[in-house]
Amino acid sequence: MDNIKYNPKSLHAEEFIHHGEIMDTLAYAEENKSNRALIESLLNRAGDCKGLSHREAAVLLACELPDLNEKMFSLAKKIKEELYGQRIVLFAPLYLSNYCINACVYCPYHAKNKNIRRKKLTQDEIRREVIALQDMGHKRLALETGEDPVNNPIEYVLESIKTIYSIKHKNGAIRRVNVNIAATTVENYRRLKEAGIGTYILFQETYHKNNYEKLHPAGPKHDYAWHTEAMDRAMEGGIDDVGCGVLFGLNLYRYDFVGLLMHAEHLEAVHGVGPHTISVPRIRPADDIDPSAFSNAIDDDTFAKLVAVIRIAVPYTGMIVSTRESQESRERVLDLGISQISGASCTSVGGYDTKELPEENSAQFDVNDTRTLDEVVQWLLDLGYVPSFCTACYRAGRTGDRFMSLCKSGQIKNCCLPNALMTLKEYLEDYASEETQKKGELVIKAQLQEIPSPAVRAKAAEYLKELHDGMRDFRF
Ligand code: SF4
Ligand code: SF4
Repeated sequence: MDNIKYNPKSLHAEEFIHHGEIMDTLAYAEENKSNRALIESLLNRAGDCKGLSHREAAVLLACELPDLNEKMFSLAKKIKEELYGQRIVLFAPLYLSNYCINACVYCPYHAKNKNIRRKKLTQDEIRREVIALQDMGHKRLALETGEDPVNNPIEYVLESIKTIYSIKHKNGAIRRVNVNIAATTVENYRRLKEAGIGTYILFQETYHKNNYEKLHPAGPKHDYAWHTEAMDRAMEGGIDDVGCGVLFGLNLYRYDFVGLLMHAEHLEAVHGVGPHTISVPRIRPADDIDPSAFSNAIDDDTFAKLVAVIRIAVPYTGMIVSTRESQESRERVLDLGISQISGASCTSVGGYDTKELPEENSAQFDVNDTRTLDEVVQWLLDLGYVPSFCTACYRAGRTGDRFMSLCKSGQIKNCCLPNALMTLKEYLEDYASEETQKKGELVIKAQLQEIPSPAVRAKAAEYLKELHDGMRDFRF
């Protein structure tokens, strides 16, 4: 370890996620956690929405001064509002198969679990799942599969993506398919890119190499470098939107927080583009998995602070929270930085079209927020957010560095709000309950006036009218 040097531009995992640098950062944060002058200066500087380094962000995370922590939360809210406005993008996960040859100790799909029912969707079953999702109003999916080259080869994933994009049921369409599959080769990433995926998502789980190896005792995922260097291969294969995340609770959260930011800095240093999204999952109960067995589990206050400091440190990155979190917990972090949430998720294989019987359980984790999509949309409206089904950027070619420069300059907001209003309008016309419809129309009317450009406002008003008359799929 001693002769490995920290180098954010390196393509070797242990050099860009350097254990010594993380330990030094944590020591620096500990030394400075009550350094009022330093923390105040960091908060002042971060107000420009240009982010902070992993060392600076680690000091904020460690800070125990109550008044400065309050300032931190206010700053996170301000950055969120400035860059993302009130829109919250909605998506749903779609589990294709839970066959897996890995041995991840925190996941019920691990190869040795004989209690869980193994299942892989046929193309016909995928069709039914997608129709069920379209009938709820979803436009954006995250595909999930276990790693199994025999049962879930890349050809199966590619065929499934093709099937999903081809289904047009009533006014429904899945317009963006993000993909969360195991680390793979540059060639396979190229094929995923050609299939038209949106973001490639891969959670690191933990950046601590020794713990990573213990948590993944067997299977291809055991290889820390192969997994940690996956985003570089994805970018080499032409995928320029990648989504990172760790599973908080597996390891010391401060360590993983620093690793996550170093990963973002590495991607930016090497490819000129940081992660498109960061997810913040926490460990959840599931078949064969008891979260109390993980002594690093984090409480709600720590979780909220993590979200806030990530928002401050990497303002340009979308942040995702899933239905692993309860309604209360999601509500708390929405204005601290979350820009995307899943809604009405089913975490088993094939659960949208036909609900599973309890004895047939094939779920990856227990969902905490079990509300319908309509209930989630209405809840967001009640809280003053604009629920959005927007998929415009990827379809308009605004990906990678093009997207990042629009985001960093704050200009993306000019697209997000009108697109949110138009996709919300589609949802209201096609899928919403009467009550949601009423609330949604009021929000559209009020928010239309918030579009700063008169030309865009006028165009959006025109599109909204056409949507009411039956036309679909407008975007900026
Ligand atoms: S986390 Fe992924 S790779 Fe690990 S056992 Fe679960 S499905 Fe397989
Ligand atoms: S305009 Fe782009 S960044 Fe904004 S919500 Fe739509 S896809 Fe996301």
